[in-house]
Amino acid sequence: MKKRTVLGLAVVTGVVGSLVAGVRYANMKKALRTGEVDGWIQGVLGDIVPYEIKSDIEVPAFIKDDKSMVYFRFSDADLMTIAMNPQSFKDTVQSIAAHELGHALDPELESIQEYVHHCVRTQDYDGFRRQVMDREQRAWDIGRQYAPNKKFFDKFNKQNMKVYAMQIGLQKGAFK
Ligand SMILES: [Zn+2]
Repeated sequence: MKKRTVLGLAVVTGVVGSLVAGVRYANMKKALRTGEVDGWIQGVLGDIVPYEIKSDIEVPAFIKDDKSMVYFRFSDADLMTIAMNPQSFKDTVQSIAAHELGHALDPELESIQEYVHHCVRTQDYDGFRRQVMDREQRAWDIGRQYAPNKKFFDKFNKQNMKVYAMQIGLQKGAFK
C-alpha cells in the first residue's frame, strides 16, 4: 500500500455569485488545458521535485513518502469549490505547490511518516495527532519562502491546519 501525505483543500469562505463562479470555473478549465497551470506549478517546484496532475486521487494533493512525486488533483468539484470563493486560482495552485515543496524539502519527512504509521499500528492517538500536525506545520514553515503570495500562503496553511485538526478529531474513534 502506498503511503501518502494528505493535504486538506483550503477554502477561503465567502461565496460569490453563481454567474461569476461559472466564468471563473471556465477560466480555470482553460488554464489547465492550455498549460498555464503547469507554468504556475513549475514556477514554484522548479526542478526540485516532479509532479503529475491526476483528477482521480483521493485528496487534493499529496507527496509520496519517498518524495519521488507530487500529485495534484484539480477535479471538477475542486474547481467548482475554488470558483465559488473569492480566491485566485493561481494563488491557490502556487500555495498548494509551495506547501508540497515544503514537505519535499523537509529532511524529517520520512522519519515523521514512519512515526505516523507506527502510531497507527500501536493505536497511539496523541502521538499520531502530534506527528501529523508537526508535519503540516513544517511544510508551512519550509514552503513559505517558495510561495509567491506569502499572505495567501499563510491563510491557506492556517486553513489546512484547521482541516487537519478536524479530520484527526474525526479519526479518534478509530483508535482505542
Ligand atoms: Zn501537507
